[in-house]
Amino acid sequence: ATVLAIETSCDETGVAIVKNREVLSNVVASQIAIHHPYGGVVPEVASRHHLEMVNPVLNEALETAGLDWSVIDGIAATCAPGLVGALLTGITAAKTLALVHNKPFLGIHHLEGHIYASYLTEPSLQPPFLCLLVSGGHTSLIHVKDCGVYQILGHTVDDAAGEAFDKVARLLNLGYPGGPIIDQLATQGNPKAFALPEGKISLPNGGYHPYHSSFSGLKTAVLRLVQTLQKSENTPLPVADIAASFQDTVAKSLTKRAIACAVDFGLDTIAIGGGVAANSGLRNHLQEAAKLHNLRVLFPPLKYCTDNAAMIACAASDHLSRGHISPLTLGAQSRMSLEDMMLLYNRV
Ligand code: ATP
Ligand code: FE
Ligand code: MG
Repeated sequence: ATVLAIETSCDETGVAIVKNREVLSNVVASQIAIHHPYGGVVPEVASRHHLEMVNPVLNEALETAGLDWSVIDGIAATCAPGLVGALLTGITAAKTLALVHNKPFLGIHHLEGHIYASYLTEPSLQPPFLCLLVSGGHTSLIHVKDCGVYQILGHTVDDAAGEAFDKVARLLNLGYPGGPIIDQLATQGNPKAFALPEGKISLPNGGYHPYHSSFSGLKTAVLRLVQTLQKSENTPLPVADIAASFQDTVAKSLTKRAIACAVDFGLDTIAIGGGVAANSGLRNHLQEAAKLHNLRVLFPPLKYCTDNAAMIACAASDHLSRGHISPLTLGAQSRMSLEDMMLLYNRV
């Protein structure tokens, strides 16, 4: 099926047209520069910019693909989770277009979109596989069983991986978003300079949860380290060494959990999703460990890892081909589990 999708869950206004797993156009207007002075995304500012950008981005996506509405089989939008005001802009635009052009409407879960980035990258990919989703708001290990059929095997109990990068960058005064800056700095530092805690989740039996993660203790450990170094030395902070040690700890922690999960569940492929997939430390550790265990790892290109509408359109195309559509009464929700999304589709 050929689907036009709109993604406005956070700070990227995206519109894309995808035919099954083939991208016909994919336009993203990022608001990173707009939110940069605030050191994070300001929800009201995001909603207003989505409203301003959604029509120009939509027109560009149609023009680039060189298509008119007659070949579009369905219109989709991200409906959850995300900033409600931001989601509402995209979902309202999609419903309006669906009504005007008399096409089915589909609401898509944002995390399902991040999973589908891997199908865009590797069109021959078939479930089951494991998705390691590492973004600004999520750190999840998802058993992908079929279209719409997912089981969350592991998640963070506090900060997401991307959030940890952003918070550590902020406490080192490096700017926003922190991931790319720390990644760059880490190349000049020693990853073994400082020993930092990986953040284990204790179980009642005295062991540790093999797939859950926790990054808030690591962030606090970096803060304590910075305070100690500032107190005891008059030399400048070894920022590159701190960045490298922090990144190495996150990368090893994610790698250990993803590999354990894939091996325990007999899944031979790990597909990565979300902005932290760009991280060079994670790429190196995961690729090396996967080789040892005879697993395949898929890293989508950066344009499909960070928020974009192509991944949403790809998911919607698969749902539409299976006869899943959404009622026009579907609303935007700031929080919703991936597992619950399937209950909201009508079948035609
Ligand atoms: P969610 O999908 O959970 O709502 P999001 O879509 O806003 O979150 P993404 O756009 O996928 O998140 O990713 C943004 C995050 O990725 C930011 O926290 C950013 O710091 C991080 N990031 C980007 N590049 C890198 C990198 N090279 N290394 C580490 N982190 C990175
Ligand atoms: Fe996202
Ligand atoms: Mg983003």
